[in-house]
Amino acid sequence: MANIWYIQVNRHCNNSCHFCSNPSNWNNITLERWIELVDDFIKKEYNWIIFTGWEPTLSSDLPKWIEYSVSKNMECRIISNGMMCSSFDYVKRLKDAWLSLVHFSLYSYIPEIHDFLTDTPWSYKKLLKSIQNALKLWIRVQINSVINKYNQDHLDKTVKFIMKNFPQINHFVWNNLDPQMMRQTDTALSTLPDFEFASISLKKAMEFLESKNKTFRVERLPICFMRWFEFASTETRKIVKNEERIVHFLDFRETFRELEWEHERALECNKCDLKSICAWIYEYKNYYNYVKVKPQKLTLEEKQNIIKKIKNEYEK
Ligand code: SF4
Repeated sequence: MANIWYIQVNRHCNNSCHFCSNPSNWNNITLERWIELVDDFIKKEYNWIIFTGWEPTLSSDLPKWIEYSVSKNMECRIISNGMMCSSFDYVKRLKDAWLSLVHFSLYSYIPEIHDFLTDTPWSYKKLLKSIQNALKLWIRVQINSVINKYNQDHLDKTVKFIMKNFPQINHFVWNNLDPQMMRQTDTALSTLPDFEFASISLKKAMEFLESKNKTFRVERLPICFMRWFEFASTETRKIVKNEERIVHFLDFRETFRELEWEHERALECNKCDLKSICAWIYEYKNYYNYVKVKPQKLTLEEKQNIIKKIKNEYEK
């Protein structure tokens, strides 16, 4: 069982993504507090730490935190926008601290769209350089992408672009946009995706990755929009495997233990054979009330096969 600990180490960033769900408050975690938390989570038998922030690479103590966690046998990874890692020397410092895995956030293979979404000129160029640097130093790279209105028609093309240029990358994560704490500007609100439309290019992307023996996960997307790939839903996996995760926020939420994965249910969900392994619709009432869910009919065997596949698959 993979229990994961997400920790926000800072709340500032050198990108300005329109849909960012963690508004800046300039908080930072101290080294002492960090060590206290790691020791506590080791006692709770957590085995993975994921450093997030806004942007963890802006914390000068990051190499020290990684080194300490690795010395305590925890697997460390960071989620990064790929701005700082465009410096080879910086990535070398992380490698020397024994960082083994980085998730870079790429929104589109089209530079103008990525730069528009990050609201930061040249962020695309720097990100590609960061991927090269990490791979050169034998750090594993995975790609995270937020599904939104501006990339929903070419999720498959972005994956193909990455595979063509960085065939060593083996794992992809799509997060459906989290509108809960994002800025409430017209531009930010314009990024909310059309689930039905996005599901078309997402399906092509997943088919392509599967044909290449690559793995992938999708978070916050109701599984009727990823039919035949339900096993890849992060929440469905957590429900089936009864997993939990702890997120340490640098705001009023502080340490938050997630044991329940279900979000909000639409009336139509009651007729769906997937309802017991689906997390339903995230932020349904407040933001995604325009989504039309698609209740599914499955045989018992089909449903059991989804569960079997999840239980048998190694966690990435
Ligand atoms: S339970 Fe609802 S949201 Fe989930 S797959 Fe079925 S219809 Fe879709």
